[in-house]
Amino acid sequence: MKTNNNKAEIYIHIPFCVRKCAYCDFLSAPADESVKESYVDALLREIDEKKDSLQGRSVTSIYFGGGTPSVLNRTLIQKILNKVNEVFCVEKDAEITIEVNPGTVSEKDFVFYKNAGINRLSIGLQSANDEELKRLGRIHDYASFLKCYEDATKAGFYNINVDLMSSLPGQSVEDYRENLEKIINLKPRPKHISSYSLIIEEGTPFFELHRQGKLALPTEEEDREMYELTDKVLKSAGFERYEISNYALKGYESRHNSGYWTGVEYLGLGIGASSYIEGVRYSNIRDIKKYISSDKAEYSEKITLSGEDMMEEFMFLGLRMTKGISVREFEERFGVGLSEIYGDTIKKHEDDGLLEYYFDDQTKKRLRLTKKGLDVSNFVFSDFILN
Ligand code: SF4
Repeated sequence: MKTNNNKAEIYIHIPFCVRKCAYCDFLSAPADESVKESYVDALLREIDEKKDSLQGRSVTSIYFGGGTPSVLNRTLIQKILNKVNEVFCVEKDAEITIEVNPGTVSEKDFVFYKNAGINRLSIGLQSANDEELKRLGRIHDYASFLKCYEDATKAGFYNINVDLMSSLPGQSVEDYRENLEKIINLKPRPKHISSYSLIIEEGTPFFELHRQGKLALPTEEEDREMYELTDKVLKSAGFERYEISNYALKGYESRHNSGYWTGVEYLGLGIGASSYIEGVRYSNIRDIKKYISSDKAEYSEKITLSGEDMMEEFMFLGLRMTKGISVREFEERFGVGLSEIYGDTIKKHEDDGLLEYYFDDQTKKRLRLTKKGLDVSNFVFSDFILN
C-alpha cells in the first residue's frame, strides 16, 4: 500500500483535569504538581526514544489534547514544545493546537501560548447555560468562559474552536438553540465549532444515574431535532459542515482532525495515545504510574493492519468528511479499484439515496454521504466492514 508518508501529525496526551466531569470516561484525572512534572519528564523521554519514528516526514500539526492540557504550568508546556521542535522536523506554519478549559487559564497564559508558537485554541465549553454546566459537573460557568474567550482574543488568538454538547439532561431543544446562538454571536465569531450529542458511558456517574432512572435525558425525537438544529443554525451563520460533528468558517477546518480522517500518519505521545505509522498501529499503555516509572516507554499493543483493515479504515474515516473519499486515491493506495472491493455496497446505498458520486473542483471523482446518509452514517459504515 502506498501512503503519503512525507507528512505526519503529533498528538500529545495530557491526562490531567481539575476534577472529573460527571459524564467523562476519557483517560484523565486530577493530579498534584509533582505527578504532572514526572509525567512531563516521561513524555520528554518518550519523545527522545521515538526520534526515529518520523524520519523523512515533516510535522504539519501538533495537538495537545486531554484531559485538560491547560492545567499544566507554562514551563512544562514550553519544555514539551522545545523537545518536539528539537527532535522532529516541524513545519514553520504547522497548526499547533491546545485544548483549554475556562477556569484554568489566564490572559498571561494565552500570551505565553502565543509566544510559544501555539496558533489554535480549542475551548471546552459544552454548554452556555449555567444549570447545564452544573449538572455536567464542569468546573466553570458561562461567565468564566466569556472571560476566557476575551482573554484569548486579546492575546491575539483568532483561530478558536468551541466545543458544545447537545442532548444534555434537562435540556430542551430551545435551551440548545440558545446555546448555539450565544456562540455564533460571540465577538469575534469563533472559527470552528464542534458539537456532539452526549453519550452515556459505562463507569461514569451519569451511567449510574441513568441506570437508576434519575437522568432526565431528552427523547430520541428531541435529540434528532437538536442534531438538525446544529446544521441549520451553524450553516445560517456561515459555517460549513466538513465532518459529521464539525463545522468551520471557510479555511478554518482543523488540520489535525482532517489529517486523521484522511489517513495522514500520526505519532501519539503520552498515556493511552495511539500512533499510526507505515500501516502499523501502536497504542501506549494507559497506566500513568507505569508510564512514569518505566525507563523505556512501552507499547501495550502493536497491531499490524491487514490490507482489508486499512481499506475499511480509509472508508470509515474518509466518509466522515462531507467531501468524502477520492476514488483515485483509493486505487493508488491499495492498487485495486474501489468498485472491485465495494461496488455492491456502494450501489445499494446509492439506490437508497445515502451515498453519491460527484466530481470536485479538480474534476476528480469522489464518493460521499448524502445529507440523508450523514444522518445515518453508522448504519452505512457498518456495511463497509470486509470480514
Ligand atoms: S474536562 Fe474534559 S477530560 Fe476533563 S473530566 Fe471533564 S470532560 Fe473529562
